[in-house]
Amino acid sequence: MKKTTNKPTFFSKMYCNVFGHDYQVTKKVTHHVKEYRCCHCKKELTTNSNGKLTELTATFKEINDVLAFMYSRKISRIRQKTYRTNAA
Ligand SMILES: [Zn+2]
Repeated sequence: MKKTTNKPTFFSKMYCNVFGHDYQVTKKVTHHVKEYRCCHCKKELTTNSNGKLTELTATFKEINDVLAFMYSRKISRIRQKTYRTNAA
């Protein structure tokens, strides 16, 4: 079994220092807000209320969870409305 760890290695940190972070979207919170993680050093970022990227802290994770919940409710309401309009 291969031992997996989330801890960044010395090499991956050095890679980011030299080449810069390589962020990939890990979670789409809303249309505007996304969560990103560097695939080398595992540093996480998110879009804040100003539309800028900031470090993904525990507080931001909670905010994003609420945002995602509200966003999915909004989407499902729009879908219901569309369905009713089509049915009528
Ligand atoms: Zn990185």
